[in-house]
This record gives sequence, C-alpha cells and structure tokens, in this order.
Amino acid sequence: MKKSKYKNERSADGVNGILIFSMFDNKPLFRIYDKKYEDGFKDFEIFHDDVSITINDPLASFYDIDEETSILDHPSQVLGIEVEQTEFCMKCNALLMVHGDEIYCPRCVEEEK
Ligand SMILES: [Zn+2]
Repeated sequence: MKKSKYKNERSADGVNGILIFSMFDNKPLFRIYDKKYEDGFKDFEIFHDDVSITINDPLASFYDIDEETSILDHPSQVLGIEVEQTEFCMKCNALLMVHGDEIYCPRCVEEEK
C-alpha cells in the first residue's frame, strides 16, 4: 500500500459544502465556498469511503426510477418534470417520504418529536 504524507489537518466536522462532480472524470468532490480562497472556493478530493453527510438543501429530492434505482436530484418543480405518485402533506404541504410501506411527512415528524 502506498504511504501518503498528509499535511495541515483540520476537522471537517460541521463544515458546510457542496458535493460536485468533476467535469473531467465525473469523480465526486467536496467544494467549500469561502472568500478566503483565491478562486472563492476550494475543492477536496474525497478519499473517505463512508463519510456521513446530511443534505442541507431545501431544493433536493429523492426519487425512485425503478425497483432497484433511486436517485437524488433537484425537486420536480425545478426540473419541470412530472412525478408519478408524488404526494404532499395535507397539513404543511411538504413532500411526503416513503419508507417501505410507510408514508410520512418529514417536517411534521420532526415537529412531533
Ligand atoms: Zn407535514
């Protein structure tokens, strides 16, 4: 195994960034926008193989394409596409989530806690 020498460690916990995909090889990169960087952003290659992430983006939705394939994309309103079986919460109008046979509202579940 190749030994790498890393430099300048700092914790990434709690850092807000964007998952982007390289235009060259489509590899995922973690991008941080900050004026302190020369270009206004800095991209990190992802060597971590199971990093825990939380999606912090009101304009993001999960979809099922078929039995095996589920995807993360922009919301249908942004994409301008029609979605089969899209249901919204009667109480708060949030997009309902499906987990197995259970359908629930992520916003109302959060408020009931
Ligand atoms: Zn709701």
